[in-house]
Amino acid sequence: MTTLRGQLVTPAGLHDGELTFGRSIEALTVTPAPGTRRYILPGFIDAHVHGGGGGDTMDGLLGIETLARMHAQHGTTSLLPTTITNPWDRVLDALNATRQAATQGVQGGADILGAHLEGPFISPQRLGAQPPNTLLPTPERLRKVLDTGIVRAVTLAPELPGALDAIRLFVAAGVRVGIGHTAASFEQTRAALDAVQDAGGRACSTHLYNAMGALQGREPGVLGALLGDEHTFHELILDGHHLHPGSVRLALHCAPGRVTLISDAMRAAGLGDGESELGGQPVRVIGGAARLENGSLAGSVLTLDVALKNALALGLSLSDVSGMLSGTPARSLNLLDRGRLEVGLRADVVVLDEAFEVQEVYVAGERVPLGVKA
Ligand SMILES: [Zn+2]
Repeated sequence: MTTLRGQLVTPAGLHDGELTFGRSIEALTVTPAPGTRRYILPGFIDAHVHGGGGGDTMDGLLGIETLARMHAQHGTTSLLPTTITNPWDRVLDALNATRQAATQGVQGGADILGAHLEGPFISPQRLGAQPPNTLLPTPERLRKVLDTGIVRAVTLAPELPGALDAIRLFVAAGVRVGIGHTAASFEQTRAALDAVQDAGGRACSTHLYNAMGALQGREPGVLGALLGDEHTFHELILDGHHLHPGSVRLALHCAPGRVTLISDAMRAAGLGDGESELGGQPVRVIGGAARLENGSLAGSVLTLDVALKNALALGLSLSDVSGMLSGTPARSLNLLDRGRLEVGLRADVVVLDEAFEVQEVYVAGERVPLGVKA
């Protein structure tokens, strides 16, 4: 049993207190904790992460273990290894490797919740940094993907032929449906959101604003449909490169309690500037921005502890930012066993010092050794 003292970060605010846990949280007591200038938060949940520490989901089991360990060093206690658009067999191999990692668990790493299938069912017109191996969501391909039993979130373009049927199948399989990498109209996006909601599912934008069209008076587009919907969750990449602060504030205004922070991190996350790779394409990381040769942002090198600091720098409260990193992504993925500091939930816990640097991380009550190279 472990007991931590500090400021407990809850949806209702910050309270001096104690947290006691084994594998799950046993007690949460509000008591004066004089002199403790540190914060105790629920572990971060990253629903969109390709890589880190030199590893990538597309590498297979070793890559997934590497990224899960690297991100755990930064407070992420649960994650969805995320595939990239690639030749079909490689995508299926990555899903099977994710299933293996989820079944075995990763010692000293984040819990593997399942896979985020980002592509290949996306628009060739809105690839962003995805390689041009897009495919249509045919029933046969969907069966292959769903048969792996590991997909927990998907990103697709709703204007593709077959997309609405695909959405219904994904929702029926309990998969969160992400709208992204899309050239859809307002009407096409609205039809997709209706299909998700009519089937009882949860919709999410995939890295809102990035790899989708703009909002205009006579054509509200994807953005207009996504931001105008009152149920849709949103992913934001808060790395200081992908989004203007004004765009972040607009999303928070439109979707209170439904904004999640993701890393969208690629293999070079945690390694500093230099040459790297994404989906078979060369990438150069300069000043914390990862770009393809054509200048497109190639994912990020973000970790969620840095996203937290970036959100605080925008003037958000620690309680709200913690929600965007834990409680909200848990709700978007229908995870009932984690995401808050609450008795009975998994003991996924992050301790930050007064400068918001990660001091301690616990995954299901087990302390992650920090400072260990992935
Ligand atoms: Zn993407």
